[in-house]
Amino acid sequence: MNTKISKILTVILSLTFCGAVLEAGEGHGHTHDSHSHADSKKKAGPNGGRVINKGGVTCEFLLTDDRFIEIRFLDEDGAIVKPSGQVITVVGGDRSAPTELVFEDKGDAMVSSASFPEGKALPLVLEIRQTKDSDPVRERIRLATHSCGSCDYLEYACVCGH
Ligand SMILES: [Zn+2]
Repeated sequence: MNTKISKILTVILSLTFCGAVLEAGEGHGHTHDSHSHADSKKKAGPNGGRVINKGGVTCEFLLTDDRFIEIRFLDEDGAIVKPSGQVITVVGGDRSAPTELVFEDKGDAMVSSASFPEGKALPLVLEIRQTKDSDPVRERIRLATHSCGSCDYLEYACVCGH
């Protein structure tokens, strides 16, 4: 009686570890896709001013140390583009006696013809017309000139959205 039964014994204990299905962590939502969302982050202007991107106008709004306002137009890469006949006004400051500034073409920038009044976080409205007769692009700005503290820029040009 030749049997092969004895050989089968080794098979029995080999099927023990079939459980233990590990859930591989797929890491939802943490892919570092850096190129497609970069535009949603705020960037400072080339001189540390506030970048305005509105109604087809992209420019840097900068308050100088002597409180003149400088506007520089920017291309889509953030490079400065010389003014080409735009008309800019700023009205703001004291609400009961607002200051109106006009701007002159000074080469790479449009510069206010006078300084903006002293004061804390004074409101102003910037208007930019592509040509003298076109509709204005308007931007309201609180001209807060203290340091943000969370990013490297002054409050009116803050890029961190704290
Ligand atoms: Zn900030």
